[in-house]
Amino acid sequence: MSHASTQPVHVIGGGLAGSEAAFQLAERGVPVVLHEMRPVRGTEAHHTEGLAELVCSNSFRSDDAQTNAVGVLHAEMRRAGSLILRCADANQVPAGGALAVDRDGFSQAVTQALADHPLVEIRREEIDTLPPADWDNVIIATGPLTSPALAQAVLELTGESALAFFDAIAPIVHLDSIDLSKAWFQSRYDKVGPGGTGADYINCPLDKEQYEAFVDALLAAEKVALRDFEAKTPYFDGCLPIEVMAERGRETLRFGPLKPVGLTNPHNPTVKAHAIIQLRQDNKLGTLYNLVGFQTKMRHGEQVRVFRTIPGLEQAEFARLGGLHRNTYLNSPRLLDGALRLKADPRLRFAGQITGCEGYVESAAVGLMAGRFAAAERRGETLAPPPLTTAHGALLAHITGGHIEGQDGGPRSFQPMNVNFGLFPPMDVTPKGEDGKRLRGTEKTLAKKRLLAARALADMAAWLDTSAIAA
Ligand SMILES: Cc1cc2nc3c(=O)[nH]c(=O)nc-3n(C[C@H](O)[C@H](O)[C@H](O)COP(=O)(O)OP(=O)(O)OC[C@H]3O[C@@H](n4cnc5c(N)ncnc54)[C@H](O)[C@@H]3O)c2cc1C
Repeated sequence: MSHASTQPVHVIGGGLAGSEAAFQLAERGVPVVLHEMRPVRGTEAHHTEGLAELVCSNSFRSDDAQTNAVGVLHAEMRRAGSLILRCADANQVPAGGALAVDRDGFSQAVTQALADHPLVEIRREEIDTLPPADWDNVIIATGPLTSPALAQAVLELTGESALAFFDAIAPIVHLDSIDLSKAWFQSRYDKVGPGGTGADYINCPLDKEQYEAFVDALLAAEKVALRDFEAKTPYFDGCLPIEVMAERGRETLRFGPLKPVGLTNPHNPTVKAHAIIQLRQDNKLGTLYNLVGFQTKMRHGEQVRVFRTIPGLEQAEFARLGGLHRNTYLNSPRLLDGALRLKADPRLRFAGQITGCEGYVESAAVGLMAGRFAAAERRGETLAPPPLTTAHGALLAHITGGHIEGQDGGPRSFQPMNVNFGLFPPMDVTPKGEDGKRLRGTEKTLAKKRLLAARALADMAAWLDTSAIAA
């Protein structure tokens, strides 16, 4: 295929999904123009001009490819030559069983790889209308904070009203302001994980009285007021603000991010903490730690006051405070076909969080698929979607179908979703132990997950081999 005679594919948005899509296209010999609006125009959450900037947590979540669905997705992406996973692996910071990264190093590596690629041209500009008619193959990957002008143009085209919900950002603390005579380093169950030591988190213990006082403070703190039209927007359960979790019940936090299990306080080993707040390393240098699960919409002054009541954080200095943002995503099961194209205008393909997946890794994975679909189309080839049994296929099926129908024949409720084993077709097997006896309880659940994971990885390998022949 001669590149000179090949029209480029246009990718709008250089986040997790757009960067991965551009790379997959270029690696298949297809020229790409990547349009990223930063730094010409910013968003409410991005702080840099780097591609693939992580706007909140620095974690890609579990790297366990045997019993965790997002770990399986990592493994599939590595096998598919993902740029995002390659750069994440190269910029890991210790995080127990999770894959976490130095956010600046990671973003710089992605930016550099694309800037250096001979088939990628990066244009720093906002696309604020529907793409011009002569762009015949376009991927829109503008994310949850799509600029309002483009969001409006897409809405008019689809004839829908956008679905919107709120996400919130967790605060980041300077390590040298944490009192380690009260807090201590330890990963839950001393899990070592990729690049970890088993002591990757900082833990702050609360006794019963402190916990009750903390919950009271969260409930009483002043929150950022919502505007009228925002007040009706629901929260997405995967990213609930800490104070909203507290509102759901006084024990909710103790059974959620503050659960006191798998950890022993070396300063007071005989007393079991009532609740434990964890901080996770946020940068390679190890100077910054984020408060795990502490997304919040409390006012900034209130955050400082309330979080300084946490034992060990009395003198905490915050590198960044938490915040609130709105998210927008398409009603994809109704609007997109199985190859992520807009049914109403198939030259437009969507990728990333705007399709209704949730999370950095999932967004990048959808970008990977969109890039490969677009490349095949440009090359005059057909590419079957990844099998449903793979993490990629399960995610794609969640986005483009597989929903309970509403009365109008469309999807009844389409909610953003992290990848999870519940999206994989179940296997009709009865897992047995080494002694040949049926497994029960946790052992049975783990054995089933291992079987689903092994099937996914084998089927992904087969799909990649076939698509490699097609490409
Ligand atoms: C505040 C916040 C916190 C989040 N926290 C987490 C988290 O902790 N963990 C997690 O896994 N996921 C989190 N998410 C969800 C989601 O996984 C990330 O937003 C992820 O970055 C989505 O990837 P994406 O490529 O779809 O979008 P993005 O990474 O946001 O990339 C979209 C890009 O498009 C650009 N753009 C937008 N409009 C235009 C336009 N009109 N023209 C040109 N360029 C444009 C933007 O500048 C941006 O670079 C969070 C989301 C938000 C908003």
